[in-house]
Amino acid sequence: MADILVYALHYEGAFNKNSLGAISEASKLAGEAGGSAHAVVVGEGISDELAATLGEYGAGKVFKAEGPEGLAQPVVDVMAKVMGDEGIDYAVFGGGLLGFEVGAGLAARLQAGVTMEVTNVLVEDGKLVAERPILGDSSISQSRYKTKGIIIGRLNAFELKAGGSAAEVVSVTAEPSAQAAQASIVSRGEQRGADVDIEGAGTLIAGGRGLGNAEGFDLLQTLAEAFGGSTAVAATRAVVDAGWYPYAGQIGQTGKTVAPKLYLAAGISGAIQHKVGMQSSENIVAINKDANAPIFEFSDLGIVGDLNKIVPKLAEAIAAKRA
Ligand SMILES: Cc1cc2nc3c(=O)[nH]c(=O)nc-3n(C[C@H](O)[C@H](O)[C@H](O)COP(=O)(O)OP(=O)(O)OC[C@H]3O[C@@H](n4cnc5c(N)ncnc54)[C@H](O)[C@@H]3O)c2cc1C
Repeated sequence: MADILVYALHYEGAFNKNSLGAISEASKLAGEAGGSAHAVVVGEGISDELAATLGEYGAGKVFKAEGPEGLAQPVVDVMAKVMGDEGIDYAVFGGGLLGFEVGAGLAARLQAGVTMEVTNVLVEDGKLVAERPILGDSSISQSRYKTKGIIIGRLNAFELKAGGSAAEVVSVTAEPSAQAAQASIVSRGEQRGADVDIEGAGTLIAGGRGLGNAEGFDLLQTLAEAFGGSTAVAATRAVVDAGWYPYAGQIGQTGKTVAPKLYLAAGISGAIQHKVGMQSSENIVAINKDANAPIFEFSDLGIVGDLNKIVPKLAEAIAAKRA
């Protein structure tokens, strides 16, 4: 029987969207494998009512523990205890940095197999098989687990489905491990621009080092406003690292994976680590002054020229058309 445990990341009264997607996916898989999906929540003063809402996404039981939100090892302690006590063989995570950290820690603690960046999970003879893209997303590899399996999804890989009823909430206390005592939260701050929502946008205007400086993003904001509707501005890692744009807007291997209807890249070379985060976009348009830039190899439309001249003209033309 394949029971599955999911970590539901919680912050200020709300659950993370990718965690809810992971619960929906786990519920579907557990149903196919003849088991149940359950969730773990670790936080300070989370109410039973809030924890029970995870049942709407398919959690049968929610194991709730008091502990610091944002640290990995206390979550590992709780998940390892619940998996041991309840005889659960699989854990599923919706992705994200904390998910990676907890998943890796849990794999080490339980001597389990672990697969990251998973985009699909199958059930074979009542067991889970995780699939992940490899070799720059050109092939798919499958992972099967000898004993316990830890499956960490790629961001947005698991679709969120609501419609269930309230879950049973079970309070748990795990003995803190030595590792958990090694870190504490000193302070908590909001990242500037952390509210950039690039994953939900229908049109993305992405900027790279070709913008020249942080002010270059003003051009892209103007273009995004001309498009209107669900349009957001995104970035490459090079410019995020340079502090020109917030991390929340980074696309790629170490950023977010997106698939908007239109992806417009301005001053982006098209490095493989960027490509893997945006190649599933429906239409890719690139503006680059170098006709040999790799991004043109996977663009539907390429414009060779100086973005400082092209982007303002494009914004004007789109605003005029929309008016
Ligand atoms: C482990 C690892 C993980 C990484 N993860 C990511 C990731 O998640 N996301 C990511 O994006 N990168 C990632 N990178 C970095 C990646 O390899 C590239 O360095 C980065 O994507 C390059 O960013 P860029 O295109 O903005 O800059 P550049 O490669 O410097 O390209 C700038 C482009 O702008 C063009 N240009 C310059 N001026 C103009 C102008 N006036 N008009 C038009 N075009 C102009 C140039 O011709 C050039 O093609 C990672 C690297 C490593 C090693």
